[in-house]
Amino acid sequence: MANSLHIVCFGAHPDDCEIFAGGLMRAFVTNGARVTFVIATDGALSNGPPADPALAATRREEAKAAAAHIGAAVEMLGFPDGGLSLQPGAIEAVDDALLRYRPDLVVTHHERDYHRDHREISRLVRSRIGPVQRFLTMEPLYGVGALPDTLVDITPHAAAKRAAILEHRTQDGEAIVPQVATWNAFRAIQMARRGVEQAEGYVIPPDIYADPSGLLAKVARVRRL
Ligand SMILES: [Zn+2]
Repeated sequence: MANSLHIVCFGAHPDDCEIFAGGLMRAFVTNGARVTFVIATDGALSNGPPADPALAATRREEAKAAAAHIGAAVEMLGFPDGGLSLQPGAIEAVDDALLRYRPDLVVTHHERDYHRDHREISRLVRSRIGPVQRFLTMEPLYGVGALPDTLVDITPHAAAKRAAILEHRTQDGEAIVPQVATWNAFRAIQMARRGVEQAEGYVIPPDIYADPSGLLAKVARVRRL
């Protein structure tokens, strides 16, 4: 059904694609699509400054182990954690990834996300895609800053998502997993469909030529709010 599709999720940090979109990405994989997580920064600041090179290496391994639960490939762009837009080569790296992967759907953070790195990769990716590129943004953490307009049932994929987040052992997954499950349970209630227990929220940017909602409906139950 979705077997010739390639979905590329641009995350700012090594655990973002799993936390925000792990369920939908797994839905694409189980329907035969190829999924790649392109991770912009090395995550070396996640335990606070100064940047820790050993932590960056650990986070790279965690990202690979986590993506394996989703069935996604991982590419680390390797920019320093924090201040992405100031990094020389960031535009070229995004252009290069878009050219190499030629994605059928590009997913990234919402432009009003709470985290500076999330906002920056969102704006950068959006500024580099063409007008016919299907594009989807992940709602900010716990919906703070922007509300979703599209909900996706991830109930069949919640266990894989949970396992993926837990692979990020440096990031206190034991605390994050119940928070994300509660957030996804709230979105599931908003879907108001029998059997939907976990759902992810997305924002579909204004578009004329390339509405991604048809792609989502191929792999999951979807509700537009
Ligand atoms: Zn992040």
